[in-house]
Amino acid sequence: MGHKSDKKLIVNGKRADGRELDQMRPIEMQIGLVNRANGSALVKFGDTHAIAAAYGPRELMPRHKQEADRGIIRTRYNMAPFSVDDRKAPGSDRRSTELSKVIRLALHPVVFVQDFPKATVDVYIEILQADGSTRVTGINAASLAMAAAGVPMTDLVTACSAGKIDGKLVSDLNGIEDNFGEADLGYAMIPSKNMVTLLQMDGALTKEELVTLLNMAKESCKKIYEMEMKVLKEKYEKALE
Ligand code: ADP
Repeated sequence: MGHKSDKKLIVNGKRADGRELDQMRPIEMQIGLVNRANGSALVKFGDTHAIAAAYGPRELMPRHKQEADRGIIRTRYNMAPFSVDDRKAPGSDRRSTELSKVIRLALHPVVFVQDFPKATVDVYIEILQADGSTRVTGINAASLAMAAAGVPMTDLVTACSAGKIDGKLVSDLNGIEDNFGEADLGYAMIPSKNMVTLLQMDGALTKEELVTLLNMAKESCKKIYEMEMKVLKEKYEKALE
């Protein structure tokens, strides 16, 4: 983000990949592909693909890390070395440490941690392909994986990005838009409570632009929520057959 460039991100009112300004990329969601996990999900926003695997609630070891009256949530965000054009150095770095933390904070408010004292829910998020907005794609995958694992939750957390490119406000930034745009916003919410659990911004926006973008993000999140509820229902309807 923020690099000066002649790159045209909007041509004749449409984005370089053919999208309308408020259009998200094609979204796909799938549940239950990691056999060993208690719950898992694959979420694709265009060429950004995130897989999440949730384990637990399970006893937290070592014991001295346990909380007597509640459980904890641990998250790990990891970008696969092959997820970007130039191979990324494997392992954690400052960025992945930050993202693991903000993702955990974004998910925590929906979880009934009092229901599993001394235990942990561990959520691993692997970015298989990165083309912008990986943290929000990862949050959607993690939330679905936790729901599929049967973690006690009040609701899902849904997430999306929005930003400003070539002076226009747009939904769901891809990698080029994120890199060469003027501003980007990462947003997560609890739809049933209308509560925001992640809000990060990079770049410059006026107050009016920020308000518009927040509304755009909320609209996108509502659409994502419907899709997520649909895949979850399908899974459980199948299980009941
Ligand atoms: P987010 O993926 O949540 O938008 P960033 O703003 O940090 O988070 O990253 C934007 C995009 O930049 C990523 O989605 C990815 O396409 C690209 N990117 C991030 N880190 C790397 C990296 N180490 N190597 C190559 N591309 C990267």
